[in-house]
Amino acid sequence: MQKTKILLATNNQGKMQEFKKIYADFPQIEFLTPSEMGIELEVAETGSTYEENAKLKALAFAKASGMLCIADDSGLEVDALDGAPGVFSARFSPLPNATDADRREHLIAAIGRTPQPWTARFQCTLVIANQIGILGVYQGTCEGQILAEDRGAHGFGYDPCFMVDGYDKTMAEIPSELKNQISHRARAAQKTFSFFETLI
Ligand code: IMP
Repeated sequence: MQKTKILLATNNQGKMQEFKKIYADFPQIEFLTPSEMGIELEVAETGSTYEENAKLKALAFAKASGMLCIADDSGLEVDALDGAPGVFSARFSPLPNATDADRREHLIAAIGRTPQPWTARFQCTLVIANQIGILGVYQGTCEGQILAEDRGAHGFGYDPCFMVDGYDKTMAEIPSELKNQISHRARAAQKTFSFFETLI
């Protein structure tokens, strides 16, 4: 069986692992990463919205590879910070070479003594594109609250300090199988399933 190849237009290891699991029910499609295709590309995220940044990444990777691509731009929005860090979530620390733990520490410091609960949400916009242009834009959201202390060891990024609404657990405490059904990324990806079904 000839598989349809789709490039995951991201260099983020956490996102790649999640995408491969979220799309596991599409055995006729092979989701490949840039490194698996020998593509080295860093796209400057100059947009002011998730959609603009996801479009920049999807089109740049489609042009570089000649493949059908799916790109993700995502972030965490905290109400006490008027929606920050948002599109700057990956860059939300003044430290050079900041780690995920540094970003979480900076987030808690920024929230400071504002009244709890610290309501927040993860947002994700997915864009599918080929060399000719954009084929689809899909959005997913996951509501929750920020915790002052990290809990759990799964996931990546802000998962250990994000308590998921409806579960008494952080995104890093729930099993990855559950995250891949209820997360912002999973919800956006579920909306792409009908597009990928038409390719098979
Ligand atoms: P970008 O989409 O490359 O701009 O990066 C988004 C950033 O948002 C990531 O580097 C993480 O810090 C954060 N983020 C996005 N999705 C998740 C998630 O599922 N869990 C935890 N943090 C996330």
